[in-house]
Amino acid sequence: MKVAIYPGSFDPLTNGHMDIINKTSKLFDQIVAAVVHNVSKQALFTLAEREEMLRENTKHLSNVRVESFSGLLVDYARRKQACAIIRGLRTVADFEYEMYIAMVNKDLYPEAETVFVLADSKYIYVSSSIVKEVALLNGSVKGLVPESVNKALALKKAALNPEEKPDER
Ligand code: ADP
Repeated sequence: MKVAIYPGSFDPLTNGHMDIINKTSKLFDQIVAAVVHNVSKQALFTLAEREEMLRENTKHLSNVRVESFSGLLVDYARRKQACAIIRGLRTVADFEYEMYIAMVNKDLYPEAETVFVLADSKYIYVSSSIVKEVALLNGSVKGLVPESVNKALALKKAALNPEEKPDER
């Protein structure tokens, strides 16, 4: 059974992430989309909310599991007996950053290969941070995130600014 881990913050899940999950679910027996629990990184959505977004949007893919983990990715990958770690690449800058991490991970856990998957050209500029910034400033992120995430962003925005009325733009 060829298990691949797709780790990320997914804060929130975007259509760029979904594209990588859809593509790689055809390449491996099982994909574990794993939400990183990073206490030092302030997230907009809770771990449970991010897991739920992934679960809701991958329920049509029978070989995709959703989990979360803390600690070193390689320790988690070893526990899962994963043969691959998936990372998405948008730009050369992504590659430069990811290349060193992939090398360290290979040293620490040689049984897994890091597999880089190119972003779809439609989503090259899509990142969770851009989505959050646009959505929280009243911009539309329709088409960049799954519909359920679009709704979750609107609810989060309303919870953060309870005073703000829709016409205060
Ligand atoms: P991290 O904080 O680990 O980078 P992210 O949730 O931002 O977590 O991203 C998880 C993975 O998805 C990373 O490999 C990232 O490069 C990839 N990714 C993010 N956005 C896109 C996108 N628009 N297209 C393809 N891959 C993406």
